[in-house]
Amino acid sequence: MLDGRIYNFSAGPSILPEPVLLKAQEELLNCNGSGMSVLEMSHRSKVFDDIINQAAANVKEILKVPDNYTVLFLHGGASGFFSALPMNLGTRSGKADYVVSGNFSNLAAKEAKKYLKEVHIAGSSEEDHFNHIPTQEELTLDPEADYVHVCWNNTIFGTTWKYVPDTGKVPLVADMSSSYLSEPVDVSKFGIIYGGVQKNIAPAGLTLAIIRNDLIQKPMDICPKIWDFQKEADKNSMLNTPACAQIYFVKLVTDWIKETGGLDAMKKRNEEKAAVLYDYLDSQSFYQNTVKPEDRSMMNVVFRTQSEELDREFVAGQAARGFSNLKGHRLVGGMRASIYNAMPKEGVEALVAYMKEFAKAH
Ligand SMILES: *Cc1c(COP(=O)(O)O)cnc(C)c1O
Repeated sequence: MLDGRIYNFSAGPSILPEPVLLKAQEELLNCNGSGMSVLEMSHRSKVFDDIINQAAANVKEILKVPDNYTVLFLHGGASGFFSALPMNLGTRSGKADYVVSGNFSNLAAKEAKKYLKEVHIAGSSEEDHFNHIPTQEELTLDPEADYVHVCWNNTIFGTTWKYVPDTGKVPLVADMSSSYLSEPVDVSKFGIIYGGVQKNIAPAGLTLAIIRNDLIQKPMDICPKIWDFQKEADKNSMLNTPACAQIYFVKLVTDWIKETGGLDAMKKRNEEKAAVLYDYLDSQSFYQNTVKPEDRSMMNVVFRTQSEELDREFVAGQAARGFSNLKGHRLVGGMRASIYNAMPKEGVEALVAYMKEFAKAH
């Protein structure tokens, strides 16, 4: 870490790679010879056109996105997409399947109910406090559904899908907000992958969507123009002024991913980092992680002590160690360490050192 910076374990907005921040700083007054920053630039300019096209091309390259998919940069974050999705895809049967594996998938299903005839909960782990991902056998899928929605990585509960559910001919749609670009994904198995970028890719305020072209079709009449996939695809995501600065960061972060070995190397680093924390958790009994081991997230690691008082004390001690944002989500309590792509392994090792000391002292 550079001088003065701390290990930021925030779930989002979250840590960005330091080389990216330095590059943004270097280009802040004069971006690509334009004499101005990306913050001040027309989105109709040649310099910005190159930025948005390179950002989309980088996403396609590192995720090996097949040719029959389009990358869209949309407004409204992941929550905006919760609304855009049923309005764009729910036009045939008006029915959709939602698998509820945590808070955000629940919110997505609730939002879809406003627009669809029927939202069917096709699987849920709510009864077990979302400590696992439903198995394929547990899913009750409707072959007439217009799509199946899943939340790939459950940011609050610390679980993640380790298998791609078989949904037959029905397109699979995945909210990947908190695991985007953390490992390779077989995009061809999904109809749509989307997410807010503020967990692993860029500052907040942008939705990154990867959409199979046959799903880009006329939406419901009530669909706001800026969420109309067809209109946005026709205009290269610039139907109105896009989130220029965020898109610029998508370009810088994806450049960084390419320079550091792509998604295979990223996955390896993320696995190593997560193992530092999970191996320690498994080796002792002072802290608990109650997630089913097979479904553990590499990005968000939740843990707690035996008492809320000790949890509070643990969190209160973070600042003195140069950490921040270790408090768990209010729905879960305890602690949560979000260890996204930009978190160095040293940060996780430092956290485990603190955990060991704290356990010993108590
Ligand atoms: C953070 C998060 C969201 C909400 O994102 P917004 O961009 O704030 O709407 C949705 N889904 C998941 C999985 C998240 O982690």
